[in-house]
Amino acid sequence: MTSTSATARSTVHGYPRQGRNRELKKAIEGYWKRDVSADALRDAAAGLRRTNWRQLADAGVQEVPTGDFSYYDHVLDTSVMVGAIPARHRAAVAADALDGYFAMARGTQDVAPLEMTKWFDTNYHYLVPELGPDTVFSADSTKQVAELKEALALGLTARPVLVGPITYLLLAKPAPGVAADFEPLTLLDRLLPVYAEVLADLLAAGAEWVQLDEPALVQDRTPGELNATARTYRVLGGLTDRPKLLVASYFDRLGEALPILAKAPIDGLALDFTGPAAANLDDLAAVGGLPGKRLLAGVVNGRNVWINDYEKSLSVLGTLLGLAERVDVASSCSLLHVPLDATAERDIDPQIARWLAFARQKTTEIVTLARGLSQGTDTIAAELAANRADLASRAGSALTNDPAVRTRAAAVTDSDARRSHPYEERAAAQRAHLGLPLLPTTTIGSFPQTTELRTARADLRAGRIDTAAYDARIETEIREVLSFQEKAGIDVLVHGEPERNDMVQYFAEQLTGYLATQHGWVQSYGTRYVRPPILAGDISRPEPMTVRWTRFAQSLTARPVKGMLTGPVTMLAWSFVRDDQPLGDTARQVALALRDEVNDLEAAGSSVIQVDEPALRETLPLRADGHAEYLGWATEAFRLTAGGVRPATQIHTHMCYAEFGDIFQAIDDLDADVISLEAARSHMQVAGELATAGYPREVGPGVYDIHSPRIPSAAEAAALLRKGLEAIPAERLWVNPDCGLKTRGWPEVRTSLENLVTAAREVRSTL
Ligand code: GLN
Ligand code: ZN
Repeated sequence: MTSTSATARSTVHGYPRQGRNRELKKAIEGYWKRDVSADALRDAAAGLRRTNWRQLADAGVQEVPTGDFSYYDHVLDTSVMVGAIPARHRAAVAADALDGYFAMARGTQDVAPLEMTKWFDTNYHYLVPELGPDTVFSADSTKQVAELKEALALGLTARPVLVGPITYLLLAKPAPGVAADFEPLTLLDRLLPVYAEVLADLLAAGAEWVQLDEPALVQDRTPGELNATARTYRVLGGLTDRPKLLVASYFDRLGEALPILAKAPIDGLALDFTGPAAANLDDLAAVGGLPGKRLLAGVVNGRNVWINDYEKSLSVLGTLLGLAERVDVASSCSLLHVPLDATAERDIDPQIARWLAFARQKTTEIVTLARGLSQGTDTIAAELAANRADLASRAGSALTNDPAVRTRAAAVTDSDARRSHPYEERAAAQRAHLGLPLLPTTTIGSFPQTTELRTARADLRAGRIDTAAYDARIETEIREVLSFQEKAGIDVLVHGEPERNDMVQYFAEQLTGYLATQHGWVQSYGTRYVRPPILAGDISRPEPMTVRWTRFAQSLTARPVKGMLTGPVTMLAWSFVRDDQPLGDTARQVALALRDEVNDLEAAGSSVIQVDEPALRETLPLRADGHAEYLGWATEAFRLTAGGVRPATQIHTHMCYAEFGDIFQAIDDLDADVISLEAARSHMQVAGELATAGYPREVGPGVYDIHSPRIPSAAEAAALLRKGLEAIPAERLWVNPDCGLKTRGWPEVRTSLENLVTAAREVRSTL
């Protein structure tokens, strides 16, 4: 590379919030329990922000983000910033801002929280703004100004980061009581003056640049939405009393929004150049680049855990130099989505650990690339050599190249991914084999994960009990779960999943090719952090994973016990996946390992096997032109998992969310014999939708909302069932809860399931 840019700076869009030992979680949860005072919580938070900024600055980052920190969620912080406090929370917020904030996030005894949903295609959840025609916005820049001043006081160059107005409105939903077709975007003209005020406050507080995050623009947008975008940045760009504006996008390409923002009177753009967003490079050239503007080039992937390919990034950066006034180096998105520090992972083989980059390592990569860009690649010769060696070690490793796995995956044929008989013939064979009543009852798999179970697991880990004692504890639990279901009169039983810590981790721990982390915590929502396993290599199954417990459960009863597995798509979606081969290839390897498990379950006597795919919908690519490819490999992986069983063996699948209009065809393509879905809250809406779409197989729309401790009465469940029967004939309708019961308590579960069986019997008797 010959071209350099004397000015290239390094920065990130955001940083993990929790601290090295999840100090933030401890402080906040302590505050909720009143063990930690508000002042102590504020001090702890300020200390964490300081540590993060110092960490960034010490690594050589020249411009740190501010305002990305949050006690709970940055979208909720934005609602506070623009004064969009739902009516039901206003009193609490007025009484005490901090308690009011947590009331919006978590609800109180009397007041429901804001709804929570996934932030684009990540596993981070934000709190959905509730807006209506009566919403009155008002600016409150307290948090944003205070955090900027903290960073400036440390002598740092700091750039406040805000959720942009278009994304904010597009993520909002109509407030309770507001017509469902209300479009929050119609509030844009009311919202922009509030942003103008916040921008002026930040300018006055010393901000040279302010970043407005608009990830909603990487999704397919209507002409109206694109016009609103153009108008927004014409208006904000046209303000006289404002800092320089940087509009940030990430997770995919900007597409049609790119020419709009390129032309807008703003001062800079942040673009993602990783994964599907790599298309931004050609798109940027096609619009003639960003003359006169700053470009933040997101070349270091902020949402996976792999080291960067320096040569590739430098080549992208080199091309970009000709396309903008000034090019700075950044993460592709906030580093919130990755764990903090890979060097904390002492249990990972050092030969593998060198392939990993968490937030701290990514920061160093960004700084190195910025140095290479501004001072020439000779100044990073040693880093380049080390990077090349690390990449080569990964590419050549036995973990990423298992010949047996590769040969098997390459030999997969169409017929492997197809059941031997069409659904109608299978259904007849299953009816004869299983002898179930009409409207058969079942559950989704897990039963309450009690404190005793968690304690037993912790005791096993700590060596306080041995495997035999732990296994005995699990057997006792399975006995109880089985005996309860038999007494309650459920038709297809489950073992209750007491041995599973988590539906993905449990399998990841048993599959070769997966790594577990000790400290790899990533925020899922609020103070809840998860440690996604790392899918690092070729996947194989050294031995059966679930057969033992399923067989034990089946030995206790004459009724069918459902074998229970997590499907290949969900195994990928809730892990960090390898980036050195197409996702479809990884999915196929996982599917083959699971297929062996399915076949082993069948051989051990299981007539019903459920393969859960709750994540099928959520990893749908953000843009429609990516859907077909994704759904192609995703459904193939599912069919490959389930395709090897006899016609009389009934394959179930389960998905949590009922919002599946755009993946109906894919659900059909799974060719599962039975699908259970969430439906209780929407009054069986999904049953009608499936019927309208012509879904030909058996369906179990949930009649028991497991997200609430409320016990549904038998009459209520029966009413839902009758509603279901309006759409699905009795021969194809199942009776089950919305999802697994692991988060619920035994007393409510007992009564709810008894009521569910009563409802099924009652409705059966009228058929
Ligand atoms: N079988 C799992 C359970 O019952 C399914 C969980 C899910 O869909 N998220 O817990
Ligand atoms: Zn579910």
